[in-house]
Amino acid sequence: MKITGVDAVPFALPIRRRFRWNGLDQELGEFVLIRIGTDEGFVGYGEATPLATWGDEHGRHGGETLDTVVSIAEKILSRHLRGQDPTAISAIVEQMDSLVIGHTYAKCAVEMALHDLWGKSLGTPVYKLLGGAVRPGVVVAHMVGLMDVGEAVAEAEAACADGIRALQIKGGQDADRDIELVRDLRRRLPAHVRLRLDANQGYRHVKTALRVARELEDCRIDYIEQPVAGLADMRQVTGAAKMPIIADESCWSPRDALDLVGMQGADAISIYLAKAGGFQKAGHVAAIAEAAGLPCDINGSIESAIGNAANLAFALSSRPVSIPAVIPVSAPAGCHPCRIGGHYFEDDIVTRPFGFADGALLPLEGPGLGIEIDEDKVRKYAL
Ligand SMILES: [Mg+2]
Repeated sequence: MKITGVDAVPFALPIRRRFRWNGLDQELGEFVLIRIGTDEGFVGYGEATPLATWGDEHGRHGGETLDTVVSIAEKILSRHLRGQDPTAISAIVEQMDSLVIGHTYAKCAVEMALHDLWGKSLGTPVYKLLGGAVRPGVVVAHMVGLMDVGEAVAEAEAACADGIRALQIKGGQDADRDIELVRDLRRRLPAHVRLRLDANQGYRHVKTALRVARELEDCRIDYIEQPVAGLADMRQVTGAAKMPIIADESCWSPRDALDLVGMQGADAISIYLAKAGGFQKAGHVAAIAEAAGLPCDINGSIESAIGNAANLAFALSSRPVSIPAVIPVSAPAGCHPCRIGGHYFEDDIVTRPFGFADGALLPLEGPGLGIEIDEDKVRKYAL
């Protein structure tokens, strides 16, 4: 099998509501679809969800946009991919790194499409190629964006009414608001609902983060996510807080994971396929975390169905990924299983909804990523 072409299609999905988190100043719901064709008729799909202003604390990572992903994929990577065996994934990953430094979202989207092709050519789901499922489903953490306390409580309660068992609560801009909201949610929500507070580096000072941690000690929260920026401050918070701290912005690459483990900068790691640059390198981050005894989640930037299928395959098959995952439940218009829970977009580019039961996403059993792309929808939503 040989690659015949790579094309990139930016598209946007209609959002259910506005979503915000600390540092996010653009609308969610814009993506780049990567489509890789082959001489055997198989077509592989990948996705990038770049956010121009989302990155790590010192600007070392991030800053990709729809335009940079399209440009890197079509102008730099495409001509090197043409004629190659798409299942030679390790070699292609190495080539991509030799062609251009960084641009992990673009590289991840291509590598995702290669995995889709590998699975389709064998008639096997990607999660089985990655070692098979180590859990029957992936518990979904519904993201409650930055909004006032009343609105956030209503969103959280509605998500839990849909069967959601875990919430990722965005905060970081106002410590007092975050403390009030989390305490309120703990009082109102059923006792089994797992809570995580994601500050997106927003607390600025270690002492502010430690005050939030102290005030929430009796709220049984699973984690505070990335309370401050930078490994040195993360280390101080992790060392002093009673509750576990999970790193997101501080851990992109396998090298970051090594530094984080060496510095004892967190108690857990939030993995994105795109931060690492694809399944392979995300697997290396997971391996480092596992060796150090740190649990992980799989997280992202609220992807469309392609990215969600990839995240689901990774979370199903990766042993340390035991923390509820912020993966949307993808569904075409009119078919969403939930009113609010895991429901971020009013439509998606797949023909069928993802399986969702008891607050968890179920394996996609089709070959490759396990989804069927609705090309009419891709045309409809293309930018
Ligand atoms: Mg985060």
